[in-house]
Amino acid sequence: MYFNPKSNMKSSLLYLFLLISFSSSAQSAREYLQTAVHAYGPWQSVQTFSYGLEGYRIAVAQGKTYKSGEKQHYFNTKTFDYSSNKAFEQNTNIFPGGWVFKFANMAIDTTFYSWDIDQNRGGKILNKGGAAQAKQIYNFRNNQIPYYRVQEINETTDSLVLLPKEGALTRIQRFPATGNPIVYTFDTTNKLISVDAPASKQRLVFSDYVSVNGFTNSATVTLFIDDALATEEKIKNWNYNFTPAQNQFNIPEGYTQTVRGAISVSEIAKDVFLIDNIGGDRNVLFVNMDEYIVVIEAPLSSETSKDILKRIKETIPGKPVKYVFATHFHSDHTGGLRQYAFEDAILLMAENTTAYVNDLLGGQQKDDFGKSGKKADIQTFRNMLELKDKNHHIIFYEVPNTHADGMALAYFPKEKIIYQGDLLSVPLDGSLPYSVNVIQEMQDFIQKNKITYNRMVGHHGLNNITPEMVKQILNNKKEVKY
Ligand SMILES: [Zn+2]
Repeated sequence: MYFNPKSNMKSSLLYLFLLISFSSSAQSAREYLQTAVHAYGPWQSVQTFSYGLEGYRIAVAQGKTYKSGEKQHYFNTKTFDYSSNKAFEQNTNIFPGGWVFKFANMAIDTTFYSWDIDQNRGGKILNKGGAAQAKQIYNFRNNQIPYYRVQEINETTDSLVLLPKEGALTRIQRFPATGNPIVYTFDTTNKLISVDAPASKQRLVFSDYVSVNGFTNSATVTLFIDDALATEEKIKNWNYNFTPAQNQFNIPEGYTQTVRGAISVSEIAKDVFLIDNIGGDRNVLFVNMDEYIVVIEAPLSSETSKDILKRIKETIPGKPVKYVFATHFHSDHTGGLRQYAFEDAILLMAENTTAYVNDLLGGQQKDDFGKSGKKADIQTFRNMLELKDKNHHIIFYEVPNTHADGMALAYFPKEKIIYQGDLLSVPLDGSLPYSVNVIQEMQDFIQKNKITYNRMVGHHGLNNITPEMVKQILNNKKEVKY
C-alpha cells in the first residue's frame, strides 16, 4: 500500500470537510485506537521485555562504492525492565573495511549511559546524558514493535482524524504540532498496523505478523525512503515477563566520564596546523603554503566549515584557501565541501570520490553555496598528486583499500606526518583498537611506498598516533562475534 504525498494533501482537505460535517456521528480515531491496542495481546501486563534484531541498511553515502546498493549489516538486542525503569541495548554496526563498532546504551530512570563495548572506537570513555536521551532508548521500540507504535499514537496529544475506509484498510491521520501529517494504516479485520506513511517520504512497514503465547508481533520491519528500500530488520527472540539478569545494567569496570575538549588550533610542525575536537573527536589540518592555504578534510556540514574557515582566517589573515582535500566520499568527510566551493577553493580528491561529491554539490541546500549559484572547481587525481612550493611539500596518495573507493591520504615528507581518514581510528583516550582489514591495507601501502612518518593524524579520535602504536594494533588480532 502506497500513499502519494500529493494526493494526501488533497484528501486531507476533503477529510477535514467530512470531519466537520460528520464528526458527531462517526467513530473517533481515539475510540478506534482504544480497541486497536488490544489486538496485539496482553501487553499491558508486560513488566519485562526483550528482543533481538538482525538488519541491514542500503549503504548510500557510507558504503564501499557509492550507490552500489550494498547492504550494511547491524545487530541489536534490547532489554526493558519497566518495573525498575531500566533499559539496556547493544548495537553492533558493521562498516566496510572490517570496522565493527559495538556500543551499549542504557537508561536507568532518567539517566542515559553509553559506552564502546570493544573499546575500538570510543575507548573506555563513558558517555552520560539526560532524560531526553534515556527516553530515546524506549522510543526506538516504536519503530520495531507494532504494539508500542499503536500505543504511542494512542497516547499522543496531537490531533488525530479517522479517515473514511479505503477497501479493507482503516486509516488514521495525525497532525503533529510541527512537521508533516502522518497516515497510519490498519487492517480493518484484525486491526494490525501495516503501513506508517508520513508525507515526509518515509514509509515504515510492519509485516510477517506472528503470534506467540498470545502476543502478536511483526517479524519484519522495512523502511522505505523516497520509495527506495532503506533498511530491513528481522525481529526475533521476543521474551516477556522474565526475571532480567541485573548485572547487565552495570557499567563495566574501568570506564570513566571524560570532559570533551573544545575546538582548538595548534601548530604541530612549521606551517602545519591542527584543528581538533571538531564535532566531538574529529581532526582537520591546514597548511600555510607560501602563497595560499591548503585544508585537509571538510567534515560534516557547511556550518562546520564556516567555523573552521573563521579559525583559519584568524590564524593566518589575508591568505586565500586555494585547495581543500577530501580523503574519501563518505558523507561525514565531505559534508563541508560546499562551503569551500563557495569560498572559491579548488576541491581536491581522487577520481572515484567525485560521483558522490557531484551529487552533494548539486543538492538543494540553502547554504551560502546554494544561494550563490556558484559552480565548484574540482581537481581529481589517480594514484598520486603533489602540491609543492619553495618551503612546502604535500603528497596525496590513493590507497587501495576495502573501506571506500577513491580513498587517499595526505603525506608531509619533510615533517614526516601522515593524515588519513578511516584507514585507522584510535580512540581519544589512547585505547588501542584491534586490527581490521583496512589497517593492514594502509600498512601494506606505507611499506610498499617506503613512507616514513613520526606522527599520524587520524580524522577521528587520536591525532598523534605513533608507528609503534600502529605496530601494536596490527598485532592485536581479535575474532569478532556479532
Ligand atoms: Zn569512511
